Amino acid sequence: MPGDPQADCLFCKIAAGQIPATIVRETQTTVAFRDINPQAPTHILVIPKAHYTNAAELATAEPAIAADVLREAGEIAAEEKLDSYRIVFNTGAGVGQTVFHAHAHLMGGRGMTWPPG
Ligand code: IMP
Repeated sequence: MPGDPQADCLFCKIAAGQIPATIVRETQTTVAFRDINPQAPTHILVIPKAHYTNAAELATAEPAIAADVLREAGEIAAEEKLDSYRIVFNTGAGVGQTVFHAHAHLMGGRGMTWPPG
């Protein structure tokens, strides 16, 4: 069923506490943890606890939880004292999605160019 934990999903396992991660914040619907391979001084992943493959699928099925993910990212950015930051949802292997459980990359603490590579 969409939303149910997937046995082979790394981020479902992190959400369930079965794989360790550096947790930054947790709510009823979301978990935020530090990226294991940070691409910026602050690089935090915010995920829904429910399993959806990507951000659009999450927003279609559970718009309130999609909003929770974005609100968490903003509140964490404030906690991390980031006045500029980027929120990225890679969607599809062609643009670098490697974990097929919706996640926001919150990145900041350095300058960034636009457009992204
Ligand atoms: P994607 O490439 O947009 O799918 O992002 C997946 C992210 O998950 C990458 O930035 C990885 O560095 C990160 N990642 C993979 N495994 C772990 C882990 O076990 N803990 C924290 N971050 C992870």
